[in-house]
Amino acid sequence: AFITFEGGEGAGKTTHIRFLSQTLEAMGREVVCLREPGGTSIGEQLRAVVLDPRNDVMADECELMIYLAARAQLVAQIVKPALERGAVVLCDRFSDSTMAYQGFGRGLDRDLVRRANDFACQGIRPDRTILLVPPSTRAGLARATVEGADRLEAAGDAFHERVNAAFAQMAAEEPERMRTVRSASKKSDTARAVFAELVDLFP
Ligand code: C5P
Ligand code: MG
Repeated sequence: AFITFEGGEGAGKTTHIRFLSQTLEAMGREVVCLREPGGTSIGEQLRAVVLDPRNDVMADECELMIYLAARAQLVAQIVKPALERGAVVLCDRFSDSTMAYQGFGRGLDRDLVRRANDFACQGIRPDRTILLVPPSTRAGLARATVEGADRLEAAGDAFHERVNAAFAQMAAEEPERMRTVRSASKKSDTARAVFAELVDLFP
């Protein structure tokens, strides 16, 4: 199964991937945890470029291509082989982030984003996507930037409001695949809510 975690800044994606992978490993599953952009040597190098706050001259078109290039490498090198051998793949961000950030956030042509993304992914799509929602956009950004903002986090509150609204709209359009989980005050409650949205994938 291929499960992705999506959501704006500081929603808790990384934390809940860790919880879920422990649960699945205890059930005897092979679990592969990945993050985007990154997860491969090429992808981590691209991540450094795209998130470096010093690269503030980056064109939106260039930004899109870098995220897609990192994804193309991740799919070919890691995701496809792992799914073929029956592993569960958990990915911290995937195609929906590109639609939300570069499509809705930057305002790039969304049909082009979709087609270019399908090309990068060789047609691979998540079986299920957990949309994690922070208590508020501002609270999430504050959490995400305690150690300094990357280039995207520094993009301003209006940009991030647009991104979070886009995620909500996308989830409403694909309710079967994309399940919304709001951050509860207790992490263990959120983790339980996440697993409840996935349990049918692990009979
Ligand atoms: O750790 P985090 O997932 O926040 O790091 C990835 C960063 O890349 C995020 O800050 C997000 O703003 C940005 N991003 C993006 N477009 C994507 C994926 C990630 O702008 N398609
Ligand atoms: Mg971030």
